[in-house]
Amino acid sequence: MRILIISDIHANLTAFETVLKDANSQWEYVWCLGDVVGYGPDPNECVELLRSLPHLCLAGNHDWAALGRLDIRTFNPDARKAVNWTRETLTKDNIDYLDALPTTFVIGNYTLAHGSPREPVWEYILEPLIAALNFPHFETPYCLVGHTHQPVIYELISDEGDTEAISPAYRQQRQLNGRRQIINPGSVGQPRDANPDAAYAILDVETNTWEHRRVAYDVSAVQKRMRDAGMPERLVTRLEHGW
Ligand code: ZN
Repeated sequence: MRILIISDIHANLTAFETVLKDANSQWEYVWCLGDVVGYGPDPNECVELLRSLPHLCLAGNHDWAALGRLDIRTFNPDARKAVNWTRETLTKDNIDYLDALPTTFVIGNYTLAHGSPREPVWEYILEPLIAALNFPHFETPYCLVGHTHQPVIYELISDEGDTEAISPAYRQQRQLNGRRQIINPGSVGQPRDANPDAAYAILDVETNTWEHRRVAYDVSAVQKRMRDAGMPERLVTRLEHGW
């Protein structure tokens, strides 16, 4: 079975639709690693499109923020404004859906979490050392995470815990080799690796084959909807820079 792996849609319907079109039904099921909402202008549309697909989805920190389940005083003012807008815009039905999302999921060879297996909602795995500290916190060969909005593979290369970061090779199938790995597909709706294109991946769980992908989408259409909704300009412009 082939799985469409997506994360951090962040209420960006144009990016989400473009990913689905690009993936062109080369998948049978969707695993979404959280942060369906927050920042973007289309929270209800993104939740509803996801719910229309055969899928499982995890809770991300922005989903929890939209539910009022965490203290947003530590968020910067722009992020806080976006959270409040999202909270007021989401329908009751979609809030109930987000409220029921689990924080981790184990399925076959794969453990799924939004941030990390150690701190599923919060921790950012941004470097090999942090990845190394997380390998003892899951039991399957592979773990899939989002949250950083940066596609990468962390591979455990020694029994002593040495871990290396492998940059994604887009549109190339990578045979997962049995070495333990923590893999991030990147972000659909708000990439932060200086590349504005939407990121996703295709995983074949029978052959353990992984493929990172990027696809350009109509950023200006999303920016227009954000401006129409009165969202902070800094959040609008960052989309075209991919940070
Ligand atoms: Zn996110």
